[in-house]
Amino acid sequence: MDYLILVNKDNLLPKDYIPNNLVKVNSKYTNNQLIYLEKKTLKNAIKLLKDLHNHFQKDYFILSGYRPFLEETFMISDLVRKEGSIISKKYPLPKCSEHQTGLAIDIGLKINNSLIPLNEDSAEIKWLIANSYKYGFIFRYPPNKVEITGYLPNYHHLRYIGSKASILKKYNLTLEEYFIFFKKYYI
Ligand SMILES: [Zn+2]
Repeated sequence: MDYLILVNKDNLLPKDYIPNNLVKVNSKYTNNQLIYLEKKTLKNAIKLLKDLHNHFQKDYFILSGYRPFLEETFMISDLVRKEGSIISKKYPLPKCSEHQTGLAIDIGLKINNSLIPLNEDSAEIKWLIANSYKYGFIFRYPPNKVEITGYLPNYHHLRYIGSKASILKKYNLTLEEYFIFFKKYYI
């Protein structure tokens, strides 16, 4: 599994791309939704959710994980109907979505029985910005890198990349910048 796989508007996944080692997420972490993730991504996501829980004494959930191409297509068509063309700046279109890799999670919590994505101003997001690299996750669409990632900020979407997350954190790099400026010196 290539944990550093770069997926964006210039690097599309094939329609039929399915990650090898998908596993079902325990329903207690999904609020009983059926969600699959890549195996190592799941292991580290659970560690992260547990530490988030220990820190804030609330229960956090994986709202979304692996989404196959067809599901992405349905989801985006629905969003286009609701929000119009702005969605191409907010959400990756099918084949550009990291959710198709099984390496991306969206995190949220339960408020009045509804699952809500983490809010950008929340203490949890501050904690995740400081700590998610320790679990191998990066914020894929940060606010100050819109020009580079091609997407508006998204605070509840985390991408698993493994041990290189600490390098991206240290040098404040997006995955795109890592590939352009850094990979040749580091791998
Ligand atoms: Zn996401």
